[in-house]
Amino acid sequence: MKRDAEAIGIGTQLTRLGRDPQEQHGFVNTPVYRGSTVIFKTVDDLENSRAKYAYGTLGTPTIESLESAWSAIAGAAGTVISPSGLGALALALLTTLKSGDHLLMPDSVYRPTRTFCATLLAKFGVEIEYYDPVIADGIEELFKSNTSTIFLESPGSQSFEIQDVPAITRIARARGIKTIIDNTWATPIFFRAHDHGCDISVEAGTKYLGGHSDLLMGLVSANAQTWPELRKTYDSLAMLPGAEDCFLALRGLRTMHLRLEAAQRRGLEIAAWMAEQPEVMRVLHPALPSCPGHELWKRDFKGATGLFSVILKPQFDKQSIAAMLDHMEIFGMGYSWGGFESLIVPFDCGEYRTATRWAPGGLALRLQIGLEDTEDLKRDLRSGLDRLGGGAGSR
Ligand SMILES: *Cc1c(COP(=O)(O)O)cnc(C)c1O
Repeated sequence: MKRDAEAIGIGTQLTRLGRDPQEQHGFVNTPVYRGSTVIFKTVDDLENSRAKYAYGTLGTPTIESLESAWSAIAGAAGTVISPSGLGALALALLTTLKSGDHLLMPDSVYRPTRTFCATLLAKFGVEIEYYDPVIADGIEELFKSNTSTIFLESPGSQSFEIQDVPAITRIARARGIKTIIDNTWATPIFFRAHDHGCDISVEAGTKYLGGHSDLLMGLVSANAQTWPELRKTYDSLAMLPGAEDCFLALRGLRTMHLRLEAAQRRGLEIAAWMAEQPEVMRVLHPALPSCPGHELWKRDFKGATGLFSVILKPQFDKQSIAAMLDHMEIFGMGYSWGGFESLIVPFDCGEYRTATRWAPGGLALRLQIGLEDTEDLKRDLRSGLDRLGGGAGSR
C-alpha cells in the first residue's frame, strides 16, 4: 500500500488517502465521529484491549483518517493531531526534551515558539541556546554533552532565511541528537522534511491544510525511530483536536495541492512585481534569485508558497506604514496566513532576536497572497505604496 502511494501522483494521493467508502455505507467521506465512551462486547475484549477503539482520547475513525493521510504525504511512520500549531510545537519539544537538556533554537523561529521555550521549557530546566539560522554545519561547534535537540524552521518566520537542513540533520544524527522542524511554510508537498533527515516535522494545519481561515490545527509527524516516543507523549497529554476540525482538515486536504500551486504562482507574481516598485528596497522570497538562501531552496524544495516579506527603502517611517496599511481595500491586516484572502502586516524581528542582528535597512512588511485576481492586488498595493508619501523625491 505504501509503495502504491509513492508511485502515484500527489493529486491522486490526496483524493484517496484517509477514507474508505466500504466502511461508510458507500459514502465518499469519513464522517464526523463524536464520542468519549466506546462499548465493549465482552469482559475479554475490555480487559485485553481487543477492540479497535477503546476510548475517545485514544482515537476515533475521523482522527485516524487524518493521521494516516498525513503520514502518507509526509513520508512519516506516524502522525498525531493537536488543536493548534503552537500546541503541536509544544508536543514535539516535550517529546525529545527532558530536564537538564540543552536545546538549540534558530534565532528566526516563530515567536510564540520562543515564548514557549522561555516560559515552560525554562521552568522545567531546559537550557535554551539560540543560533544563527544560516549556521549550516557550523552548528557542531555549539554542541554540548547535554545537547539533545536541534530545532529548525526553514524558511525562518518573517525573515525567510533558508536553513541547510540536510547538513544539520546529518551531523545531528551522527551525534544521536534529535531534530524537529517547523515545516509550516513549505508543507510536506513542497518539502519532505523526513526525507531530509528530520526526526519530527510540525505543520500548523491552520495555514494551508485548512486553507479557509476557519480552522486551528497542528500536525506532528515522526520517523520510525521517534514515533513511539511521540505517540506516548501525545497519549499522556490527550491534547486532541475536535472532531469537526478533523473533518474540515480532511476536506482541505483534497484541494491542498491546487491551492499551493495557486499560492506559488500568485505569490511569485506579486513578489516579482513588488521588487520593481521604487519604494521597495528588497523582497525576501526564497524562490527569487535575489533572495539569500535561494540556492538552498532550489536544491531542497519542490515549490514555494504564498507568504513572503518586503523591506521598504529607509526614508519611510512608522507613520508612512500606517498611512499605507490603514487604508488597504483588499489586503486585510491580521495574523496567520494560508487562507483564500490576502493579508499584510508590519513586523520587526529586532524586537526579540538574541543570536543575530536584524538590521535590514528599512521597515518590513509581510504579505500573504490569497486567491483574489492579482491585478486587483497590485492596484491595492500600488495605491498603498503611494500613500507612504515622503519617498516620492527619492524614487
Ligand atoms: C501560524 C504558525 C504556527 C502556529 O499555528 P497556530 O495554529 O496559529 O498555533 C506555527 N509555526 C508557524 C511557522 C506559523 O506560521
